[in-house]
Amino acid sequence: MIRFWILFLVCAAFLHAQKPLERVSVQLQWADQFQFAGYYVAKEKGFYAEAGLDVSIRPFDPKRLAIDEVMEGRSEYGIGRSSLLVDRMRGKPVVALAAIFQSSPFVLLSARSANIRSPKDLIGKRIMMTQDFQDTIAIRAMVNSQGMRMEELKFIEHSYNPIDIANGKTDVMACYISNEPFTLKEKGIETNALNPEQYGFDFYSDILFTSEKELKHHPERVRAFVTATLKGWQYAFDHIEETARLIKTRYNTQNKSYASLVYEGQILKELAYRGNQPLGAMNLEKFRRISDIYKVMGIPQDEKRLRGFLYEDTSRIALPLSIEERSLLQMRTIRYTSTFSWPPFNYRSQSGALEGIAADFWALVVKRSGMQTEFTPALTWNGVLDAIKTKSADVTLGTSISPDKEPYALFSKPYASFPNVIVTNKKIDFLPGLSALEGKNVAIGNGYGIAALIAKKYPAIRIVGVDDTREGLKLLSSGRVDAVIDILPVVAFLMNEYSYVDLKISGTTEFMFDVRMMIRNDYPELKSIIDKGIDSITPAERQKIFNRYIAVTYEDTIDYRWVYGIGFGALAVIALFMWRQFELGRYNRKLLQMASTDPLTQLPNRIKTDEKLAECHAYYERHRRPYAVVILDIDWFKRINDTFGHLVGDKTLISIAQILRSHVRGTDTVGRWGGEEFIIVCPETDIEGARQVAEKLRGVINEYDFETVHTLTCSFGISESRDDDRVEDVVGRADSALYQAKEEGRNRVCAL
Ligand code: GH3
Ligand code: MG
Ligand code: MG
Repeated sequence: MIRFWILFLVCAAFLHAQKPLERVSVQLQWADQFQFAGYYVAKEKGFYAEAGLDVSIRPFDPKRLAIDEVMEGRSEYGIGRSSLLVDRMRGKPVVALAAIFQSSPFVLLSARSANIRSPKDLIGKRIMMTQDFQDTIAIRAMVNSQGMRMEELKFIEHSYNPIDIANGKTDVMACYISNEPFTLKEKGIETNALNPEQYGFDFYSDILFTSEKELKHHPERVRAFVTATLKGWQYAFDHIEETARLIKTRYNTQNKSYASLVYEGQILKELAYRGNQPLGAMNLEKFRRISDIYKVMGIPQDEKRLRGFLYEDTSRIALPLSIEERSLLQMRTIRYTSTFSWPPFNYRSQSGALEGIAADFWALVVKRSGMQTEFTPALTWNGVLDAIKTKSADVTLGTSISPDKEPYALFSKPYASFPNVIVTNKKIDFLPGLSALEGKNVAIGNGYGIAALIAKKYPAIRIVGVDDTREGLKLLSSGRVDAVIDILPVVAFLMNEYSYVDLKISGTTEFMFDVRMMIRNDYPELKSIIDKGIDSITPAERQKIFNRYIAVTYEDTIDYRWVYGIGFGALAVIALFMWRQFELGRYNRKLLQMASTDPLTQLPNRIKTDEKLAECHAYYERHRRPYAVVILDIDWFKRINDTFGHLVGDKTLISIAQILRSHVRGTDTVGRWGGEEFIIVCPETDIEGARQVAEKLRGVINEYDFETVHTLTCSFGISESRDDDRVEDVVGRADSALYQAKEEGRNRVCAL
């Protein structure tokens, strides 16, 4: 009897501990392969179960479209292409949760021996491609952008058998770059791919989506599903071989070989992390651009419907807290303190509340940990330090580690990091570093950590203690000190707020400032809670905070009204016909412009620049007229992104593009060569001419006052055409020269 009861209790306890899993399903939109590895792995490795989910992966069935399955409630989740955007525009309540592939694997493949290298080479060739308008939109746009019409091409029925390229049944096949090239390579056939991405038609692929209904009624479940799925993907890409084996044994309806699955995994991994995006990243700007392409292709788009299309996980993310951490929060209200005098980190908003970068990071930590808080403002920074010292406050929001605070305080991980910069009168030249300030009077806020660091390393600098940096700038403006030092966002904010047009940031120091929260030293649990909170903040959230205090505006000047929505009324047939011709012309010009223009800077993109180079080179070969190439790369550009966020980085690239364009001759071509690299092709120019161009630009950029960032330099590599050169040689020398300029210390011009 006793044994029975023990057994009963054990069973009851066990049953009690097992919360039933919620059953959901996800609809695939193609046959099983590595393309869906993340889902298989999340299921097989138990990531879904850990998240409280029992997920059934519904295999591909051509009669069951993922979009219909999800919209009609037969599946909670589905996988779709960028054309989900079109469904959304047509009023379907789809919500995109994560974009697994940052660029689409969909390409036009041909045997290398057929020498099909540009869309023009497709003319007269047989192409296997479905006529589904939406799925092939990127390819259509690429073709149209090169001044061709789809009707000029010869499409034949798709066999989905890559061997048909080998046996001559077709010349070209629309397929996935992650699959067919491998099959053909195994047969000894090398391939070429025409990729719409290279022509500026860059689409997301394999977008995990759900319905607004699911998101509304089961937000926790959505979050759990997305998180577990991405964990599955992460694992799959980190363990491609193991995953290929899993697919081969459990999900191999297509009977793919192990080697082909590994190949697929490698190619897809590259597409998933393209552009150094975090796994699953989606970006509204990119969707806007995709929407623009649909618009130009005649599929009406409504900007307003984009709102709510992208899933934003803004609700509370509960932190995994230990028992000690939880009990601290249960027993105590956390008292935090701050001054109002450190904009843009902590200052008083118009409503009188605490506002700023530090306050926003703190708010996220508070929300996620679920802590109760109470705010006690402090009048001065020393007041803050006293409050932590005497434990009348538990935490303050923004400071740096320094030995004098260590006896009584703990520090969180840094949540932001900024360089300390030097502000001087506008008339002062660029300062290469702090040593240029030796013997000068430099104002620094009393008690600021940087003062001690400078005093130690540069004893010849005369430090003038001031209440705060605002005070310092006042002294500087009236000529009573020579410079002020503080971190970039603070001086940028103050100079803007008090419109100090006579001052500028004329150099940076080697001292970075890591911004941390400071905690009374007998609360180690509070420190670990805050660290977990800081860890949970995503790059997107971080960027959002920076952007809020460092304003950037965008304008949308492109007008697409001509594409659709123009009422004709009762026009004569002939007029209509003429209009159509006209419209078609504009439409092709628009696509051509899209295909050859870099969307960010509006400069010619790499394809266009390559064309220009080829043109110059041909002229050189025929007429022996020299041409020169200048390649420039922004110095330390990564720091700008890291400090101010990508939007400021982008804005800086736009400014550079404008500077370059307005300082070269009309016959020169300025192009965007890569991320933060630009190229200038100068016809009728030799190396000395190129040097003049480069030196002029170097000077202008060096002097220019960039918004937010203020100072910036570039390194330049130059070369000229020589006998027996190929284009690649000329460009290659400029590139090596640029590398040399970087090696020799940047902000200079080198020639090779
Ligand atoms: P240096 O060239 O002086 O060696 O240093 P760097 O910091 O400029 O070097 P690196 O080439 O490593 O960094 C270039 C950075 O440019 C990395 C990348 O994130 C960023 N980048 C590239 N394209 C873009 C873009 O379109 N927008 C933004 N905001 N950043 C970009
Ligand atoms: Mg670079
Ligand atoms: Mg660079």
